Amino acid sequence: MFSLNTLVRPHLLSLTPYSSARDEYSGKEGVFLDANENPLGSASAGRYNRYPDPYQWAIKEKLAPLKGVRPQQILLGNGSDEPIDLLVRLFCEPKEDHILILPPTYGMYEVSANIQNVGIKKVPLTADFQLDVPAVLNSVDNHTKIIWLCSPNNPSGNVLNRADIIRIVEATSCIVVVDEAYIDFAPESTLLSELDRYPNLVVLQTFSKAWGLAGLRVGMCFASEEIIALLNKIKSPYNLSSSTQAILAEALNGVEKKNEMVRDILRNRERLRETLLTLPNVETIFPSDSNQLLVKFTDSAAVFHYLLENKVIVRDRSKVMHCENCLRISIGTEEEDRRLTDLLAAFAAKA
Ligand SMILES: *Cc1c(COP(=O)(O)O)cnc(C)c1O
Repeated sequence: MFSLNTLVRPHLLSLTPYSSARDEYSGKEGVFLDANENPLGSASAGRYNRYPDPYQWAIKEKLAPLKGVRPQQILLGNGSDEPIDLLVRLFCEPKEDHILILPPTYGMYEVSANIQNVGIKKVPLTADFQLDVPAVLNSVDNHTKIIWLCSPNNPSGNVLNRADIIRIVEATSCIVVVDEAYIDFAPESTLLSELDRYPNLVVLQTFSKAWGLAGLRVGMCFASEEIIALLNKIKSPYNLSSSTQAILAEALNGVEKKNEMVRDILRNRERLRETLLTLPNVETIFPSDSNQLLVKFTDSAAVFHYLLENKVIVRDRSKVMHCENCLRISIGTEEEDRRLTDLLAAFAAKA
């Protein structure tokens, strides 16, 4: 049986969090002499002399209806990296507990656990990058605190079967995090609608991919109000700057622009796939539900270096599980993709 109170590290359950000036008085009007701010203004052109809202309520009020959740079910972080780190710190006792990851997958889950001296168990995805549900369930024990699933997965690009994810969420009493960084490219696959049914489910999304805001550093974590309240206790108080919050508030008016960019990128992806398939040294292009194509070449190392010499940079994934001779290619503009495929055609003609 899932019990949040037995899963959370005991000393964090009883932790008294830092109480900021804005925690103790959250009104908008008044003479603010409580936070040792500079009352005169800022050395910069813009005015940043006041501390920002520690809980970013204005953003969450706008975001919640877009996502079909309540504002209290949202934590915003400095990229997804921040909630990934906070989740490990909330649930995993160093040297005692471990996380479960399913390679090939995103690297930060492992790095965050390593930083905290938390153990890592690995259960590979199947050769077609799906979940081996019995193997996952067999690997779970009392010290497994978090299972990290990535859907659509990085670097393979595909969504994981929804029924498999739900089976894992239902069969375990640990936290199951589904990282949906690429979900805007496959919106029908989101698990956000399942949050109220499963108290052990956590969903991560990001503004870094489809929204085009990688440089702004904003990640989203969605979970039960209880889990979000605990994460709020351990996050740094003012984790999103005023300028970040202002830009984000404006970006949230741009849903239609985001959706248009997604449509363009998906169109480019299918054009790139068709062109790549005509090349003699392309063996396989794995099915993608995101803005990346995992491509298996007959000789990925030579292709990788040829592209690099010509200043086209792709990601070498040939050393990771199930990805021998594979390069991961992010979908570019039509011109960028043509530059890539022209080079690949020239390389193949030379060989
Ligand atoms: C790109 C990516 C992220 C996003 O990280 P940010 O810190 O939000 O930029 C998260 N998870 C996966 C799997 C990714 O590929």
